[in-house]
Amino acid sequence: MFEGLSDKLSNILSSLTRRGALTEEDVNAALREVRRALLEADVALEVVRSFTDKVRARAVGAEVVKSVSPGQQVVKIVHDQLVEMLGSDAEVISLNAVPPVGILMVGLQGSGKTTTTAKIARRLKDRENRKVLMASLDTRRPAAQEQLAVLGKQVGVDTLPIVAGQSAVQIARRAMEAARLGGYDVVMLDTAGRVTVDEALMVEAAEVRAATNPHEVLLVADALTGQDAVNTARAFDQRLGVTGIVLTRMDGDARGGAALSMRAVTGKPIKLIGTGEKVDALEEFHPSRVANRILG
Ligand code: GDP
Repeated sequence: MFEGLSDKLSNILSSLTRRGALTEEDVNAALREVRRALLEADVALEVVRSFTDKVRARAVGAEVVKSVSPGQQVVKIVHDQLVEMLGSDAEVISLNAVPPVGILMVGLQGSGKTTTTAKIARRLKDRENRKVLMASLDTRRPAAQEQLAVLGKQVGVDTLPIVAGQSAVQIARRAMEAARLGGYDVVMLDTAGRVTVDEALMVEAAEVRAATNPHEVLLVADALTGQDAVNTARAFDQRLGVTGIVLTRMDGDARGGAALSMRAVTGKPIKLIGTGEKVDALEEFHPSRVANRILG
């Protein structure tokens, strides 16, 4: 039967009937279970280590509050540390720049980048009354450009007319120019993805970034990526200077470990989460909810 972490920790620490401070021994016993729970939630190993070190530093010597059991006390410390590392406040997409404000969407193929581009465009249009232009920079897959045009029609957002034979940088420049002339507030640039992080992908995205100077660079990542999440996030952040992360497929079985991993290695906020295939399935990120989900 499924047993949540808090029950497990209560059992482990049940012998601790005396009041007083948590000893290193108590904490280490509890941390073995915490470590297991984090790995089950697909938190990357290096992040599990730094997380448990932080919890240990916080828990050893902590006074057990009279009204709670030592197990509950450790669970609270773990939960608080998770929330702190996930980012305490929900962050929003910043449009605080001279329009047209560029938003560069980056990520691996299949992560949900194109869908998320349309979801965010819809949100900016409907909730913030912004005039948004979307452009697909995927020159290798014409179907990707058409996919964005179809989504644009569905959400009532303009897409840049497709011109065959242009490079990603040329399309991006054309999008910024069209937005300037057309009085758009926001330009969303949907870059090409690859199945794995590769050099050509990074070079192209870096060129687009240099040519358009976007205000936000959003990394779209699949919540089910597990241990790879750290490497993906680190690679994109080092090369492109990510400003925020959108985690997709949070409607699935993912326990949300990728959120902690990505946030920990990049320090960049998780701004939104994708919760389904439909264009309105986009929600704000609530650190406390994800912390509970990770704890199981
Ligand atoms: P891209 O290759 O990164 O542009 O990925 P797409 O936007 O084409 O998305 C790939 C698939 O994932 C599509 O079938 C989407 O409908 C689906 N998808 C995207 N975001 C989500 C999400 O948050 N939840 C679920 N369940 N599916 C999603």
